[in-house]
Amino acid sequence: MAEQDLYKILGLDKNASDQEIKTAYRNLAKKYHPDLYTNKSDAEKKEAEEKFKAINHAYSVLSDPEKKQIYDQYGSEDGPQFDPNAGFGGFSGGFGMNMEDIFSSIFDNFGGGRSSSRRNGPADGRDIEVELEITFEEAAFGCEKTIRIKREENCPDCKGTGAKDGTALKTCPNCNGSGYVSRIQNTILGQMRTQGACPNCRGKGKIITENCKTCNGQGRVQQYRDVKVVIPAGVDNGQHKIMRGEGHHGINGGSRGDLLVYLKVKPHKYFKRRNADLMVEMPISPIDAILGCTLTVPTLKGETTIKVPEGTQSGKILTVKGQGIKRLQGVGSGDLYVKLNVETPVSITREQKDLLNKLKVSFDKKQFPQKKKFDDLTGK
Ligand SMILES: [Zn+2]
Ligand SMILES: [Zn+2]
Repeated sequence: MAEQDLYKILGLDKNASDQEIKTAYRNLAKKYHPDLYTNKSDAEKKEAEEKFKAINHAYSVLSDPEKKQIYDQYGSEDGPQFDPNAGFGGFSGGFGMNMEDIFSSIFDNFGGGRSSSRRNGPADGRDIEVELEITFEEAAFGCEKTIRIKREENCPDCKGTGAKDGTALKTCPNCNGSGYVSRIQNTILGQMRTQGACPNCRGKGKIITENCKTCNGQGRVQQYRDVKVVIPAGVDNGQHKIMRGEGHHGINGGSRGDLLVYLKVKPHKYFKRRNADLMVEMPISPIDAILGCTLTVPTLKGETTIKVPEGTQSGKILTVKGQGIKRLQGVGSGDLYVKLNVETPVSITREQKDLLNKLKVSFDKKQFPQKKKFDDLTGK
């Protein structure tokens, strides 16, 4: 697989300026952000996620002057190379990045960039991730759970301003309310004027005359909240539920983050699960295996009976239609597979032994076709 052109991924050509790279990255990262695709089809989600990763990877190289120089010079992130497969290594390295890394890199890029240009602008709240352990049955039938989370919210007493109720904010005297201060720096190119955030008001332009006691002037408080989570029937271990707007609250009107609930399903004592199907292993006696029987088997809801045919072999799997788990997507339920294991008695009486010995001589080789094959092979 050839290495994809990092400029092309961002919709640019090789002469793109740093600013163009940054702008293209921001626009594309916003467009393909996984949050926007949560309600879309799996195929669309996957495509967006791949694009999102590729965009992030391209930006991680092209925004780094050293990496960019190597890439521009050799057309590869790995520098000069002759192995046609080596490029794939570099590329897949980018794909190996986990989503958390990508989110944090976006956060750094956007959060940092935004706060320097629009210090009082809104910032979106971060997501909260929690793990929720539920039983096998709760996953199969669905359930409602209340989970306690700790999240950052605007302080209710000062409405997020950080100022004590009734005391007004005062214009910062250091920057006259602009939030910026200019510095003159001497460089080899002469004197340069640079602007930076005012250290007195931390770029806000306003200072608080008296701090709000509740939040200590921070404008934010940590709150414990009980959130009700409705788990639909048919969920499985490792799946997660996104609860929109239940994450940390945004700053200055920024939107709330989400709450991501990762499900951990406890194993069942008897049942094993594969997607919507269930499997249970049932012991049966050799007599029942020989003669056939009606067998009572457990289901998740109670029990049912199945017909074991005459001459059933150990390990045989019988299917009970529709007694599996409700399909999360799609209609109906999976099936229940009953695996029959012949259980040999661990002890027998003298009388049983005599009966079995009589029975033994009554059997013919042909009645055991599998065994016969081996007997023929060994010349017995
Ligand atoms: Zn407060
Ligand atoms: Zn100031």
